[in-house]
Amino acid sequence: MRYFVTGGAGFIGSHLADRLVEGGEVTVYDNLSSGKAEFILHHIGEPNFHFIEGDLLDWQKLAESMKNHEVVFHLAANPDARLGIERTDLDLKQETIATYNVLEAMRVNHIEKMVFASSGTIYGETPVMPLAENYGPVLPISLYGAGKVASEALISAFCHSFHMRSWIFRFANIVGPRATHGVIYDFIHKLNQNPNELEILGDGTQEKPYLWVGDCVDGILFGSSNSDQRVNVFNLGCESTTDVKTIAELVVGAMGSGEVRFKYTGGDRGWTGDVPQVRFDVGKMKTLGWKATLTSDQAVERAIGEIIPEVVGEKVLCKQLS
Ligand code: NAD
Repeated sequence: MRYFVTGGAGFIGSHLADRLVEGGEVTVYDNLSSGKAEFILHHIGEPNFHFIEGDLLDWQKLAESMKNHEVVFHLAANPDARLGIERTDLDLKQETIATYNVLEAMRVNHIEKMVFASSGTIYGETPVMPLAENYGPVLPISLYGAGKVASEALISAFCHSFHMRSWIFRFANIVGPRATHGVIYDFIHKLNQNPNELEILGDGTQEKPYLWVGDCVDGILFGSSNSDQRVNVFNLGCESTTDVKTIAELVVGAMGSGEVRFKYTGGDRGWTGDVPQVRFDVGKMKTLGWKATLTSDQAVERAIGEIIPEVVGEKVLCKQLS
């Protein structure tokens, strides 16, 4: 099978590429805006791995690069939901138009299968309850979430208009090695700069499901191989949740930082557009036969252990072990 992975040099995309390359030929298409060449360096030179540095907004290059592939995994996007406040056209371009370009490039190249990285942010701020895939209306409260809804809509319309098939995965918060953003990464960075004080966005009560990146990739591959509707939509996460204060305490403990003063910025959410309380109904994936191997707390703890050495290097590792 020949796979085309947009955003394949990113956090999740590079883990997905690692798995796909085991059983097929993989082309990673990435502009390295938030992804890193080092995440895929270990595959460079392998005969079944190709890297193209390119932008999804360069349609000619995208369409040319996509020739002769069979499945497109579309993960490239602006990964930071906070940026929409400062640049209101960012998610419009990097989600909606970028996704249109991917679909149109697929259409002209007669590629019929698309797997898409969507997000739980599409549901918006709802009464706190586990949200199933059929919850509606979906009314996101961030431009990032709006870009994901628009992308889902375009994917569905292309599938029905041009005999394509799609697998849309609405991710929980994904954590693990190679992370380049998110609360764990943020806390580790802050404590590395100042081991005495930790700024926590909001009041620390924000509570969401965290999914380990290895489970995320497993879920994508399992869900897309075991469902065959024209448009398949799945929540990809876990039932349990972890709150931000607990994450802060776990990071402090793992870094061996000693006494740390928590400085809350206040309010019930981290930033404008943040949904502070999220619960996922993952029954649809369970019915299919898949569930995450780690709970939310376990995923957080594992990811902390994986990200610390990446961020602060061997020094902290030695301190932990001594
Ligand atoms: P990431 O930033 O590590 O990956 C995105 C990749 O896309 C990067 O390698 C970046 O360089 C590339 N990219 C961005 N714009 C591009 C463009 N115009 N052309 C070509 N390449 C471009 O982020 P991630 O966390 O791995 O996220 C992957 C996908 O999963 C994204 O679509 C994101 O919205 C979605 N998602 C992530 C999470 C999470 O918790 N990390 C949660 C929900 C959804």
